[in-house]
Amino acid sequence: MPSIFSYQSAEVDWCEGNFEHSEYIAEYYNTISNISFFILAPLILWLNSPYKDFRPLPVCSLALMEICIGIFSAYFHMTLSYAGQLLDELSILWGMSMCYAFWFPVRYFPGFIKNRDQFMWLVLLVTLFSTLMSFVRPALNAYALNCVAFHLLYLTVQELRQCNNSRVHHLAGLMVFWWAVSIGCWLGDKFLCSWCQQLGFCYLHSLWHVFINVTLLYCATLIIYFDVLYESPASEPQLMYWPGETSALALPYVAIRKPQKWC
Ligand SMILES: [Zn+2]
Repeated sequence: MPSIFSYQSAEVDWCEGNFEHSEYIAEYYNTISNISFFILAPLILWLNSPYKDFRPLPVCSLALMEICIGIFSAYFHMTLSYAGQLLDELSILWGMSMCYAFWFPVRYFPGFIKNRDQFMWLVLLVTLFSTLMSFVRPALNAYALNCVAFHLLYLTVQELRQCNNSRVHHLAGLMVFWWAVSIGCWLGDKFLCSWCQQLGFCYLHSLWHVFINVTLLYCATLIIYFDVLYESPASEPQLMYWPGETSALALPYVAIRKPQKWC
């Protein structure tokens, strides 16, 4: 029986041909495209440095989880090992859980939860249970991740219904657009591989790595904006773009116009 760390012991294999560019790296482009995670993490911290001064723990934890996801994803695509697959999926699950624990709006807490500390414990228990289940039934992990992603999308729609700020709607529209493009790349790589091979382009999964990071930048900006808006409305958060609104490479961030003491 092969070790869970041995090459190509994973349950999945992506469209890109294996060992085409290196004898040590199974999927070359799917591995190096993970560099986008290492770019995004410091970028979020740098763009949102005023927010980082207020609430350093959530945003620094998010950046750290991004780095972990990048490392485990690169390890997975490099080896296509079963251990790599588990670590990749579990790091995404823990990253999403961390976002829930820190940023889930208080007014959506279930009735039996009294404060954020209790909510964090609940999220920790559910995440630990899902982690254990993924060793028993690995296929369940993908369903858990999809459930969380769609729940987050549902919450975003709920928030947007109550918000009439056109800049927020514009940012959310861009996030959904890049999310759809990312999912399209992921599905295309998985289900249209023979068609991709005929076209001679088997790199849709590496594009998924890049575009999901673009999506995450919009998503993180939106989460940070709503966090400041609800937790400290007098701070007057505002959505801005670096280096400028009309720049071809306009990166979103949250400016805090009147910084207040955070409690
Ligand atoms: Zn991947």
